[in-house]
Amino acid sequence: MYISPEILSLIPYKPGKPIAETQREFGLKEVVKLASNENALGLSPKVVKAVTEALQELHRYPDPSFYDLKKTFAEHFKLSETSISFGNGSNEIIDLLIRLFCEPGHSIIAPKHSFVAYKVCAQVSRVKYLESAVDAQFRPSIDSLLQMCERDTSIKMIFLANPNNPTGVYIPARDLQRLLETLKSNSNIVVVADEAYTEFVRASDYPNALELLQKYKNFLVIRTFSKAYGMAGLRLGALLADPQWIDLFNRIRNPFNVNHLAQVAAVAGLDDKEHLARSQKLVWDGLDYFYKKFSAAKISYVESQGNFLLVDCQKNGQDLFLKALKLGLITRPVDSYGLPNYLRITVGTQKENELAFNSIEKLIHS
Ligand SMILES: *Cc1c(COP(=O)(O)O)cnc(C)c1O
Repeated sequence: MYISPEILSLIPYKPGKPIAETQREFGLKEVVKLASNENALGLSPKVVKAVTEALQELHRYPDPSFYDLKKTFAEHFKLSETSISFGNGSNEIIDLLIRLFCEPGHSIIAPKHSFVAYKVCAQVSRVKYLESAVDAQFRPSIDSLLQMCERDTSIKMIFLANPNNPTGVYIPARDLQRLLETLKSNSNIVVVADEAYTEFVRASDYPNALELLQKYKNFLVIRTFSKAYGMAGLRLGALLADPQWIDLFNRIRNPFNVNHLAQVAAVAGLDDKEHLARSQKLVWDGLDYFYKKFSAAKISYVESQGNFLLVDCQKNGQDLFLKALKLGLITRPVDSYGLPNYLRITVGTQKENELAFNSIEKLIHS
C-alpha cells in the first residue's frame, strides 16, 4: 500500500506524561503534574453544575450551529455572531484552517520554537512547514517573517502563537500591527494569531486582536477554553474571523465537532468571572514566586505571559525531566522544540510550585 512520505515521517504529538502512568512506573503515591499548562484550580463550580445537569441530554446530538454558545460568546466579547465558530479544541481549528487555505505543495510559516501543532497539522495535509527567525530572547523577528513571505510565494499562512508556547514570549501590538499593515493588500497570505494564553497576559503592549479583526480581513484569531477556563478535557476552541472565512470553516468542519457538554460548559464558564479572576491571580502569583526563587538561585528563565515558565537547566532537560519524575514531579522537556537544555513548568498551586522549585533547584545544582 502506498503511504505518503509526509505521513510516514510524522512524529506523533507527545503529550504531557499522565499522572497514573508515572505513579505505576515509579511506585509513587503522590505525583504533581505541571506538564500540560492545565488550570490548577480545575473547573469552575458553575461549570461542574451545568455539565452535571446536561448529562441528562446526552442521548441527543449536540447543536451543530452552537446557538447558545455563539450568542453568549458574541455578547461576552462584543463580536458579531457571524464572525465566530468553534472547534474540538484549537487543535482542530488549526488543522481545518490549514486544509482551508492550503493544498499540497503550499507552505505555512511560524517563528522558531513555536507550538508544535502547526507543524504536525501541516505535515498531515502535505503542506510544508517553515520557520522564521527569533532573537536571543526568543522574540520573533517581523522582518524575517516578511522577507520569507516575499521571497516564497508558496507561503499561504503565518501562525503566531501569542503568547507562544513553550517560550512564553509575546508579540507586541506595534509589531503585529506592522505585520498586518504590510500584508494588508497581499491576497496570498492569512495571518493567524493563536491566543491560547491571552487571559494570562500582563504586558501592557499586548495587542488587542479583537480590534484588529475589524480592520484586517486576512487576520484570524484562535482562542481556547483549555487553559484559563480549565476545560482541557472537554475540548473547545473558538475561531474569530471575517464572516467569509467563518462561512468556509463551517462548511468543512464536522457538523457535530463540538460535543454538548463542551458547549454547555463554556456558556457557564464565561459567566463565572470570579473563577477566571482566581485562575489569573494564581498564575500571576505563581510566576512571581518562580521569578523570585529562580533569580535568587541564579537559574535563568524566560519571562512568561502564559501559565508556564521556560527554565534554563544549563544541562540536558530530558535527563532532568527523568530525575524529576522519580521525585514525583512531571514537567515538560522541550527538546522537540529545539530547546534541549530547557524544561517547561506549568504554574500550579503554591504548594505544587514550591515542590517544583525545590526539586528542580536541587537537580540543577547537584
Ligand atoms: C494549549 C495550547 C492550545 C490549546 O489547544 P486546545 O486544542 O484548544 O486544547 C493552543 N495553542 C497553543 C499555543 C497552546 O499552547
